[in-house]
Amino acid sequence: MLLDLLFPRRCVVCGTPGATLCRACARSLPRIAVPVCGRCGAPVAWPVARCRECAGRRIAFTSARAAVEYDARVRALVSAWKERGLRDLASCAAGIVAEVVSVPAGAHLITFVPPDGDRSLKRGHHPPARLARELGRRWDLPVRPMLERTRPLRSQRGLGRRERQRNVRGAFRATATRGKVLLVDDVYTTGATVSVAATALRRAGASSVVVVTFARAVRR
Ligand SMILES: [Zn+2]
Ligand SMILES: [Zn+2]
Repeated sequence: MLLDLLFPRRCVVCGTPGATLCRACARSLPRIAVPVCGRCGAPVAWPVARCRECAGRRIAFTSARAAVEYDARVRALVSAWKERGLRDLASCAAGIVAEVVSVPAGAHLITFVPPDGDRSLKRGHHPPARLARELGRRWDLPVRPMLERTRPLRSQRGLGRRERQRNVRGAFRATATRGKVLLVDDVYTTGATVSVAATALRRAGASSVVVVTFARAVRR
């Protein structure tokens, strides 16, 4: 493509000319290895049903799993994906998710956290939707947009866990559904957004919601 000649592609993580995500970086992004908390997916020392991070919290999803830790390199990748809409990153990210996370048993369809009106229009693309589509192909599950925002959201950036919960409460409505639904998002930070989205899906008839994200913040 002409654009490739004018602006040679470079790895969004290390800057090496060539692929949008070079092989070395794709291989070395920090996978979240088992054991993880059976509920929120935080890395733990031994398998547990609840962990320090999620015990005592009301969470509307059954489980959350993520492929990589949200470190500085993954942050660079996700922001390039969001801001520059690099298509091939969706396929790279889905490949890594499929390598680390097994397809959630019993889920019969995939949906995703919807874009926040203004921001996604400006960007003209939406990483969670792209990731959901790529995973749908790999896992052979239909993908449907089922959630919409009830109001514009203030950015979650810089907010603590409680503030995030307050900021997103009641933020989504879902179309009628049933059974176990797989909910996809790009990054799991505190779980507040996916939990509120899961509440909306359950109100709309889903019997349970399992969450899969590309990246996850890990507290140490
Ligand atoms: Zn690289
Ligand atoms: Zn947990």
